[in-house]
Amino acid sequence: MSCVSESILNTDGGSQHKALNIGVLAVQGDFAEHIAILRRIGVAAREVRLPEQLDGLDGLIIPGGESTTLSRLMSIYSLREPIARMAGEGRAVWGTCAGMIMLANEITEQDPVPLGLMDIGVQRNAFGRQVDSFEQPLPIGPLSAEPYNCIFIRAPVVIRVGPLVDVLASLDDGRPVAVKQGNLLATAFHPELTRDTRVHQYFVGLAESNSPASSLQ
Ligand code: GLN
Repeated sequence: MSCVSESILNTDGGSQHKALNIGVLAVQGDFAEHIAILRRIGVAAREVRLPEQLDGLDGLIIPGGESTTLSRLMSIYSLREPIARMAGEGRAVWGTCAGMIMLANEITEQDPVPLGLMDIGVQRNAFGRQVDSFEQPLPIGPLSAEPYNCIFIRAPVVIRVGPLVDVLASLDDGRPVAVKQGNLLATAFHPELTRDTRVHQYFVGLAESNSPASSLQ
């Protein structure tokens, strides 16, 4: 076992990211899986429940879960404004599934109230109740060519992208499921539920290039 994790650490080049600090919003959802992957690739990761825990972070992940609950808890813990400020400062923020819904500036329902940080329209539960979950290997633009096994669980889909948004991956029917707008990343699927660390590596690179420390160099 330890051989496996050491080789993952080495081949993933975790040590080069050692100085970075990534937070994972831990009010609800599968934050523990994100933290485990970040640590496996050698990146310092911590749970975020309070606004002051965003201080000094190079990036934030908003995990999958239930966006209506996430939305309420973000309001109760006064996290909306500081997360928006963090994104506005250019620090990297990534939303997966319910987290993607929270980043959108338009959703097809009244509830939840999203953060409105990315210029995307999102439809919740886009794949119907009977097909709540599925896996689909998809090429993801900035990653190496090997398709990435995307796990969709009661997943949303992007139904509109603004002019500043890059589509990184789409379903066969053309609907986007991974999008990026500057320092902001959103995926409709769950990279934290696979052993493939490439999307986390990509996000860490985004955090690194937008980190306040790197802009001083
Ligand atoms: N269907 C959930 C929602 O609308 C998202 C599911 C997930 O994050 N896996 O919030």
